Amino acid sequence: MIPYGRQEITDADIDAVVAVLQSDFLTQGPSVPEFEQAVAEYCGASHGVAVNSGTSALHVACLALGVREGDLVWTSPITFVASANCARYCGADVDFVDIDPKTYNISVAALRVKLEQAAKSDRLPDVVIPVHFSGQSCDMEPIRQLADQYGFSIIEDACHAVGGRYQDEKIGSCRYSDITVFSFHPVKIITTAEGGMALTNDAGLARKMDLYRTHGISRDPKEMTRQPDGPWYYQQLELGYNYRMTELQAALGISQLTRLDEVVGKRHLLAKSYDKQLKDLPLILPYQEKSNYSAYHLYVIRLKLDKINASHKQVFEALRAAGIGVNLHYIPVYSQPYFSEFAFSPDDFIEAEAYYREAITIPLYHHMSFSDQDLVVESLKSVLL
Ligand SMILES: *Cc1c(COP(=O)(O)O)cnc(C)c1O
Repeated sequence: MIPYGRQEITDADIDAVVAVLQSDFLTQGPSVPEFEQAVAEYCGASHGVAVNSGTSALHVACLALGVREGDLVWTSPITFVASANCARYCGADVDFVDIDPKTYNISVAALRVKLEQAAKSDRLPDVVIPVHFSGQSCDMEPIRQLADQYGFSIIEDACHAVGGRYQDEKIGSCRYSDITVFSFHPVKIITTAEGGMALTNDAGLARKMDLYRTHGISRDPKEMTRQPDGPWYYQQLELGYNYRMTELQAALGISQLTRLDEVVGKRHLLAKSYDKQLKDLPLILPYQEKSNYSAYHLYVIRLKLDKINASHKQVFEALRAAGIGVNLHYIPVYSQPYFSEFAFSPDDFIEAEAYYREAITIPLYHHMSFSDQDLVVESLKSVLL
């Protein structure tokens, strides 16, 4: 089976991890801060806080912004469940904004309308989490303007998007947001096995996220409520977690980061090749905004079902049967049984529903061979034509 995504581990990656195994620190050593600084520098952000997953990064981001019970967080329905769950961990309510029919990112027009209505009913969101779907940035500049107008904070869920750009800046610069979050899961652009990072230009938010990832414990006398009892003394200031990244993961991340631009460049070549080879099939191919340079985490096609003699499910099954590891990103989050108590109506998410009826993710990873790509293209042709 050709998977839809897959990590690449080089000899240099292995050497970096082995060196840590032979060193004094498996956790809480020098590699994590080095990785944080390298990612922050790459993105042009002031601070990076490494944690053990993208999900944890979203959670500490919400905590640092003060999300709590009774608050409201909005995100996209076409995302991984973690984009919404981070708000639920804090006891906040969740709502969704329909997607843009071309980019599949959160629709700025729908966001504007929903904000106008929310202002009238006095139930504005405290935080909005735009998700850079498939690696292409949301249109952040107008979202920032709406944030200033309506007074919400912004967390960019950039789990798909490390290595991409919006306008002339790297995703992760946090130019238009409070915090940006990455995941380093093996199917993503670069990997630390499990792992994630939250970036910010706000030193206060960075310090809070740092506290929340290590039990809420501080060893800094300036942050304590009284003089330390002695050199052993620490204080727990908040209810934090153990979300630390290990030294092994950070060393792997540092090594992987050196290849990031090359990896994303290769993904673009493969995507262009798909664009060319699939253009005459009854499909809608990924749309790219001029102001964006996608990290191309996913290559999503949409079936023109009125021009195909098979159902969505039949096409999906036929591709799987042909050894193509297709997938569907994502099932609309509001339709998950866990969210049923909030009684969302699919009628409020026309574009997300239409997308879900037609979308299929086909394999794309930077070290995919052109012959594997040809096999994907040939299989699609034989299923669709
Ligand atoms: C992968 C992913 C996450 C969660 O990242 P993990 O590292 O797997 O916890 C969150 N949001 C989106 C959009 C993702 O794709």
